[in-house]
Amino acid sequence: MALENPVKFFRNLPKKKCPECGEHIQEQAESYFMECERCLAKKAE
Ligand SMILES: [Zn+2]
Repeated sequence: MALENPVKFFRNLPKKKCPECGEHIQEQAESYFMECERCLAKKAE
């Protein structure tokens, strides 16, 4: 079988990481926020 390197595939989908707490951020197409929901909620106060 000539499958493409799966590592290559995942490199095209870099996981977003919250710069505040280092939490992985769920991919949300319509979300452009850098922080995770928790840190965003904190900032919104
Ligand atoms: Zn965070």
